[in-house]
Amino acid sequence: MTDRFDVVVVGGGNAGFSAAHSAVEQGAKVLLLEKASEGAAGGNSFYTAGAFRFAFDSIDDVADLLEPDKRHTNSVVPAYPASAFTADMHRVTGGKCDPVLTEVLVSRSTDTVRWLATKGIKWRLMYERQAYLSDDEWVFSGGLYVGTVDGGKGLIAQHTKAAQDEGVEIRYGAEITALHVADSSERGVTYRDTDGAEHRIVAGAVVLSAGGFESDPQRRTEHLGEGWDRALVRGTPTNTGDVLDLALAAGAASHGDWGSCHSVAWDADGNPNGGNRELTNQLTRQSYPIGIVVNVDGQRFVDEGADFRNYTYAKYGREILRQPQSRGFQLFDAKTRPLLRKEEYDSQPIASAQANTLDELAAKLGIDPDGLQRTVSEFNSSIVDKPFDPAIKDGRAAQVEPPKSNWAQALDTAPFYGYAVGCGITFTFGGVHVDETAQVLDATGASINGLYAAGEMVGGLFSGNYPGGSGLTSGAVFGRLAGASAGRWARHG
Ligand SMILES: Cc1cc2nc3c(=O)[nH]c(=O)nc-3n(C[C@H](O)[C@H](O)[C@H](O)COP(=O)(O)OP(=O)(O)OC[C@H]3O[C@@H](n4cnc5c(N)ncnc54)[C@H](O)[C@@H]3O)c2cc1C
Repeated sequence: MTDRFDVVVVGGGNAGFSAAHSAVEQGAKVLLLEKASEGAAGGNSFYTAGAFRFAFDSIDDVADLLEPDKRHTNSVVPAYPASAFTADMHRVTGGKCDPVLTEVLVSRSTDTVRWLATKGIKWRLMYERQAYLSDDEWVFSGGLYVGTVDGGKGLIAQHTKAAQDEGVEIRYGAEITALHVADSSERGVTYRDTDGAEHRIVAGAVVLSAGGFESDPQRRTEHLGEGWDRALVRGTPTNTGDVLDLALAAGAASHGDWGSCHSVAWDADGNPNGGNRELTNQLTRQSYPIGIVVNVDGQRFVDEGADFRNYTYAKYGREILRQPQSRGFQLFDAKTRPLLRKEEYDSQPIASAQANTLDELAAKLGIDPDGLQRTVSEFNSSIVDKPFDPAIKDGRAAQVEPPKSNWAQALDTAPFYGYAVGCGITFTFGGVHVDETAQVLDATGASINGLYAAGEMVGGLFSGNYPGGSGLTSGAVFGRLAGASAGRWARHG
């Protein structure tokens, strides 16, 4: 049976829903196809903290978007102008971000967040993740301050309601198995339903927003290299890269860095094959800048305080993967434990231990005790005498190898706390090439009629590392563009 729509959107995460809303604004009849069942839907977007990075010259410019909070009056939220966002993109990717796509991402970020608000997405300042209380003021840092109410769960619930209210038809358990773009009168997709039956959809335009290949161990090893099959999947198990392959086979040019990805410190006991829908992002362990991280030999292997967390966390997962047993341990003491993010370090169950001596902690966690003692005594004695302040880059360094550039605190006050972490893979950076309207390009740089892409499927924005909160913004910016372009093309040619 063949169904006809103006626009078919493949994948129901933040990018897909943004595309669907935007196509509807063009008057298009829209079908959204999602591989997962309704109870497992929302893609990686569901598992997020809902943090969106976007530019503003003063927080007052976007204050009208924020849900009321009595802490607003004693909060310090630095400006994050477009120039800073652009500079962060270039800095953290080592200059390997496509300048055209980066300009689109940054310049449309704020307007797109406002537009999402018109669709019912609710916003708040993320006190629990991005601020420290300093002299009775909540001081934010790291260029990422605003998130959705109820994180990724809220984001997907709000997106889904808006799409249903707009008349978007959503089919769950619908896995795209073929993409048809060669003949414009037959353009569309084939999907398989949960009973194995195939369905043909003909559409004026197709938007691909089906994520990367992070959930497929084989594709990870092929593109990211040996050992990546050991990574723990943080989000949806359904982003297996099959739609990327369909797009490439249909003539889309591959773009960006297929050899690196976003990966973080993640609870070592996390399910390797997919995230936890109840705890979602709480399995992440991101307070390492105020502690130290060692491997099973008791040796440190990263500069935990190189920068604000938002600029280092996405590249430190791969450093954990490289360690013996692909394991690390974040260590804190009685002084620093109260500063850890509650939602992450108080979540249960958790791979952790507490002890009154370092030897006892090492024994409980499986760390070489002599190695740990050597590391800690060398670290403790190398700390420069400057005041500790987690809200700024305080320059309180440990002058060891590797150095700790900021926030160094001696690990010397019992009880001691240790958290076992593995490498949690978030999403992959390689994708297809799109232009500034989100239209897919072929290898010659020509547009492929009626084919658009958004979200993780867009290659070229990130490489090696990533400024926290840019993934959701990218999905919304390119999803909105893709939907508008697809809707216009389908309606008017
Ligand atoms: C635990 C976690 C926390 C994160 N926190 C943040 C954060 O706070 N801020 C931020 O910016 N980013 C965050 N990210 C990254 C963010 O999730 C992604 O950048 C973003 O959600 C990608 O959106 P998307 O729509 O492209 O993909 P997704 O949301 O993953 O949606 C893709 C959808 O496509 C579907 N699909 C796949 N194959 C097919 C097929 N063959 N047919 C039909 N459908 C298919 C999938 O089932 C999925 O639902 C986080 C990720 C994780 C895992």
